[in-house]
Amino acid sequence: MTSSHSDRGVAAETDRRLSLPDERNLLRLYYEGGRLPSPSGGFLMVLGIRPEEKGSGSILLECTSSSLRYQMSVPKATRSERKKVRAMIDEGSDPKCPRHQGQLLVRIRHDLACPSCGVLYAKAK
Ligand SMILES: [Zn+2]
Repeated sequence: MTSSHSDRGVAAETDRRLSLPDERNLLRLYYEGGRLPSPSGGFLMVLGIRPEEKGSGSILLECTSSSLRYQMSVPKATRSERKKVRAMIDEGSDPKCPRHQGQLLVRIRHDLACPSCGVLYAKAK
């Protein structure tokens, strides 16, 4: 085990994550696969995507010009999105993310999630 980060370091990293002023607009761009403009100039680069316990997703972003880090929350799946995914599974086709064109869902523990937005869309069988 090589843990170079102390607890204090992790806490400091969390503190540096800022929230974004226009998440709704940025999310739309993100779903479309466009570049995300950073509020501090430059663009936002995706550092990591992870599912949250309540089924929503969380995206960690870093500004290419200021290196400031931002946290973007992705709303959890709606009833109709879950329905769409269930229909794909019932048809026997590989379930895709209803928000990302052509993005296949991956199994994370007991759920099917999108690796691009971190949202859980269905229970894995
Ligand atoms: Zn997605």
